[in-house]
Amino acid sequence: MDSKIANISVIFFDLDNTLITTRKADKLACNKLSEILWEKYEVQVETSIAICSKYLKAFRKCPDNPSVELHAWRRKLWMQALGDEYTAIAGEVYLKWLQLRYHYLALTPDVQMLLKKLRLHFRLGLITNGPSCAQWEKVERLNLKGYFDLIVVSGDLPWEKPQHEIFHEACRYLGVEPGECLMVGDKLETDILGGKQANLAGTVWIPLVTDSPERAADFHPDFIISKVTDLPGLLPQRTAPVFRQQKNVVFRLSRDQLLDDDDCSNNSC
Ligand SMILES: [Mg+2]
Repeated sequence: MDSKIANISVIFFDLDNTLITTRKADKLACNKLSEILWEKYEVQVETSIAICSKYLKAFRKCPDNPSVELHAWRRKLWMQALGDEYTAIAGEVYLKWLQLRYHYLALTPDVQMLLKKLRLHFRLGLITNGPSCAQWEKVERLNLKGYFDLIVVSGDLPWEKPQHEIFHEACRYLGVEPGECLMVGDKLETDILGGKQANLAGTVWIPLVTDSPERAADFHPDFIISKVTDLPGLLPQRTAPVFRQQKNVVFRLSRDQLLDDDDCSNNSC
């Protein structure tokens, strides 16, 4: 165990492709859906595959459009992917996709156990980049609140990873110094660079299978592990349980909250 992280009390996690296999799950959901289009709706196999890959490409390019309600936006993407011939089934297809997506996105039992065990001895934070509605949908549908002391979605705030402010705001909220925190994530440009720039005690990189390990040289993560469940092997051994005033309280950071704390020009200050 590295002495730099001997005194950590908080572990921050990234969400997508760190705790949940977002890219893989979205691909699996689309693959399964193309089978359903063929079996249930009698769409030709090649056309089904083309429709689902068109949707996945458009969805990844723009998962949320702030000017349109989230479900309406994704239904629209399905209508475009299905084309005029199958536009009538877009609503049904969207609901099936949503169900499949969350089936494949679910936290695996070993990750659930990891978070439960870590939370006995550390405070846990989730810091995720992305649009507010889309990320909070994941938090709600995957029942993530019970695993964390703090959940931060960049879409709610003026910053995102790698900006140091998002990490420092999370530290401030938990009442800890950056040097007491560890950041764990899959993306060098956001999770690792951000953790370094925020002067956290350490950073842990979990490369995707498509990542080249040599890329680490430019970002200097303190640790590299192949899967998140390998994390306990790096951590200081703790026996005493972490002190919490209340159990299972999740503080959702939002822009409004920042204004409440920092902007005393309004009447409530
Ligand atoms: Mg990620």
